[in-house]
Amino acid sequence: MDFELADWQRAASDAFADYLAREVAPIVGAHERERRLPPRELVRAMSGYGLLGGLLPEALGGQGLDHVTYGTLLAQLAGTWASLRSMISTSNLVLLIIAERGSAEQRERFVPGLIRGDTLAFFGLTEPNVGSDASGVETRAERDPARGGWRLRGRKLYISNGVHADLGVVFARTGSGADRAVSAFIVERGMAGFSAREVHAMGMHCCPLGELLFDDVLLPAGNLIGTEGEAFAIAKHYLNLGRCFVAYVCAGVSEAAYREACRYAGQRQQFGRPIGQFQLVQQMVADMMTRVETSRLLAARAADALDRKSVDAQRWCSMAKRHNSDAVLRVCEDAMQVLGGAGYTSDFPLERHYRDVRHLAIAEGSNQIQALLLAQGELGLSALRG
Ligand SMILES: Cc1cc2nc3c(=O)[nH]c(=O)nc-3n(C[C@H](O)[C@H](O)[C@H](O)COP(=O)(O)OP(=O)(O)OC[C@H]3O[C@@H](n4cnc5c(N)ncnc54)[C@H](O)[C@@H]3O)c2cc1C
Repeated sequence: MDFELADWQRAASDAFADYLAREVAPIVGAHERERRLPPRELVRAMSGYGLLGGLLPEALGGQGLDHVTYGTLLAQLAGTWASLRSMISTSNLVLLIIAERGSAEQRERFVPGLIRGDTLAFFGLTEPNVGSDASGVETRAERDPARGGWRLRGRKLYISNGVHADLGVVFARTGSGADRAVSAFIVERGMAGFSAREVHAMGMHCCPLGELLFDDVLLPAGNLIGTEGEAFAIAKHYLNLGRCFVAYVCAGVSEAAYREACRYAGQRQQFGRPIGQFQLVQQMVADMMTRVETSRLLAARAADALDRKSVDAQRWCSMAKRHNSDAVLRVCEDAMQVLGGAGYTSDFPLERHYRDVRHLAIAEGSNQIQALLLAQGELGLSALRG
């Protein structure tokens, strides 16, 4: 049992942290104020560090990174700019789906551009009437015998990268009647009948959410991913992976908020002393420190379970996602208390961290749903079905 990163992982993480401090941190404030998308050259730079496709083997254009290393880098990015992180990890998830589950033609056509960051992707599962119960997908795809492809009709909601990505994976019902079979399709921006509008949200202002409309979009037969009717298993597999990375994201933002609070507690003077000398402030520091460390350890435990292909991996990913997305809110809350009025202003990054992590207890399977899955695994009793 080793709780530390290997030397090469530490070196990769330190080099990335240097890059983020030099090239990314200085531009975040202005972009956030103007709600501008991160510059494309930053997205492309993420590719070099392995954040786009780095998990893939070299034969598929990746760097053969393990989940612990990938998650560690992602945590650094999240602590610097959560919007850029969301843009990158959403696109990365879709490129993994296409690379690992797509046809040779799909891999050749879409994966290299996604790895380079020349193109971006969205993951389209949630709909206006379909959230936690993702099996109830209402968007439909029907075969078009005359044109030899599929006709896609429906809506997707709260889709990260949905308004600006070049392509995405859309989950649509292909079974009829009582058959709830769902298939996954690649949908490209510019296809006739595909439009999107921005959905304004509390945070993640530089990676806006989209509502997508598919009004009789004609999809070529070659845009079906994998086998017809088996996409729900794909969604479950990659959402589980996403949960491990959300756990790292929360650990990264927790650490950033904690460091900011510690810096401030050492400098801010009241009653003739640094506020860090007061015991009630020190208690908050101890609470934050413990949550930062437990979050880091749980995220690493989940990633290690994925790396070892452990049968327990899903359980660790759910547990880490649920714990860490609650913990990061508590850390941001304490950090804001330590900063007092300053923490509430946009002169400090803390209020952005706070807004940007709030959705993580909701997205990628809400924390209530994670609790039900965890208890079901333990008790063998499902609160969701029968
Ligand atoms: C910032 C952000 C980014 C997102 N990005 C994407 C994306 O890229 N792609 C995508 O497909 N989706 C995305 N989503 C959508 C996200 O996955 C859904 O919001 C999430 O699955 C919850 O669905 P819902 O919002 O419809 O809530 P609902 O399912 O309506 O749930 C509402 C509340 O009821 C609770 N609840 C529901 N069922 C139960 C139950 N059985 N027992 C107990 N409590 C229950 C939930 O926990 C929640 O608290 C994103 C959401 C946000 C906020």
